[in-house]
Amino acid sequence: MKTILNRVQNFKSFVYESVYWVENAPEPTIEALLRPRANGQAICSCCMRRRPGYDTLALRRFEFIPLWGIKVFLRYAPRRVNCRTCGIRVERMPWATGKHQLTQAYAWFLSEWARRLSWKEVAQAFRTTWDHVFRSVEMAVAWGLENRDLSGIEAIGVDEIAWKRGHKYLTLVYQIDAGCRRLLWIGQDRKTKTLLRFFWWFGRDRSVQLRLICSDMWKPYLKVIAKKAGHAIHVLDRFHIMSGLSKAIDEVRAQEARTLKSEGYEPVLTNRRWLLLKRAENLTDNQETKLAELLRYNLKSVRSYLLKEEFQFFWSYISPYWAGKFLDKWCTKAMRSQIEPMKKVARQLRRHRPLLLNWFKAKGQYSSGIVEGFNNKAILTTRKSYGFRTYHAAEIALYHALGALPVPKTAHRFF
Ligand SMILES: [Zn+2]
Repeated sequence: MKTILNRVQNFKSFVYESVYWVENAPEPTIEALLRPRANGQAICSCCMRRRPGYDTLALRRFEFIPLWGIKVFLRYAPRRVNCRTCGIRVERMPWATGKHQLTQAYAWFLSEWARRLSWKEVAQAFRTTWDHVFRSVEMAVAWGLENRDLSGIEAIGVDEIAWKRGHKYLTLVYQIDAGCRRLLWIGQDRKTKTLLRFFWWFGRDRSVQLRLICSDMWKPYLKVIAKKAGHAIHVLDRFHIMSGLSKAIDEVRAQEARTLKSEGYEPVLTNRRWLLLKRAENLTDNQETKLAELLRYNLKSVRSYLLKEEFQFFWSYISPYWAGKFLDKWCTKAMRSQIEPMKKVARQLRRHRPLLLNWFKAKGQYSSGIVEGFNNKAILTTRKSYGFRTYHAAEIALYHALGALPVPKTAHRFF
């Protein structure tokens, strides 16, 4: 065991004194006792300088990666140093950080598994606690954020997701450059202030380098982007515009359902469909009358649906000029439809005509599927029962899943 440990986890100024089986432990346990090398001087954990010793604390246990399903602990009595600059401090132990009970190796091991399984599953698989898994991921995210490279960012996408059963929102900013796609930043809420905080963090120098930004039509975002990165091409996201149209259709349908109900028809939305699907010659007289009446209302739902389908053509244009012509025609048609939710969308699209046409200027510079893909993944991550209720835990989970954060080379040794 000692030989193996020296191979896989060797610390320069410390030696394994003994490795032994712990008798009467609640579960099979191995401990490896560490001691400082004979002439090794302790290092202050605060300033990282060699300092004279002060005293020695009681033995502490640090959990290491389990072996054959057996728990493994490093055991060590930390020394305290008398540091000129920092005072009396605990020495630096290369296998641990701060007051953590887990060794760094184990924390990286757990956090890497947490990319593939839910936090709960990781805790179960390695017979540890949810809290230990969370702390490990938290450590990995902190390290990754500190060591990531933020140079060369030219394209970003701004998105929001509902959180906590739709009562709250998170603003997510992604890098969407062809060579690097990842979650860059998370902010609570989706206000003007929220996105301003992003630009404040991102910094002026990096903002100047931005060439492309895509977002949905959410007003605070449009405002902040125009103010902070007016030089970049601002594109309205295809995914968000199409889902805006879908929402409008849902609204039309819901309104119709209410109207029909108030006029004495039963669960219309499903029945209506069925009536429409059934062959006309198979309808009873009564059903036929119902269908005729329904069609009058249903026309709105159907027409909305067709309008949305028609709008798909918009994205296939190559010339912004003709796309603009198409957009104007479509909007006129929608405005004449007498369907309020569709008119609302049309008004919105008209108002943002230049931003919509930017899509053609930016064509080829980014794929419209990226933001949608990230959006789906982000929703999945927050929904997955990680057991987190706090914003902090959600933030950690999102960075871990979508941040493409770097990992130190040593972390790969056990994974
Ligand atoms: Zn010090």
